[in-house]
Amino acid sequence: MAAADNVCRKCLLREMAEAVDLAAAVKEYRERLPEGVRTPEEPFEQRLARCKACTELSSATCMQCGCYVEIRAARVDVDCPMGYWPALQN
Ligand code: SF4
Repeated sequence: MAAADNVCRKCLLREMAEAVDLAAAVKEYRERLPEGVRTPEEPFEQRLARCKACTELSSATCMQCGCYVEIRAARVDVDCPMGYWPALQN
């Protein structure tokens, strides 16, 4: 099987074995965001669930904005570029 065949287009960083260090860095980034800026756990997971079901997700990246979705979803003041989930505050 070619390496390109191993790409998981519907995975998040935390689910991709080769991206474990990056996933840990993203997790740490989220944890370091101040309260009030960091998206709370429940809406964060709801956002990621929506991204997981989205045709724009490819290898943890949103093909609309180029962001890793786990980073984009981490901040309350950011929304989905396609309108699938809103900012929680401006
Ligand atoms: S941020 Fe929006 S457009 Fe991008 S993958 Fe997630 S749901 Fe899809």
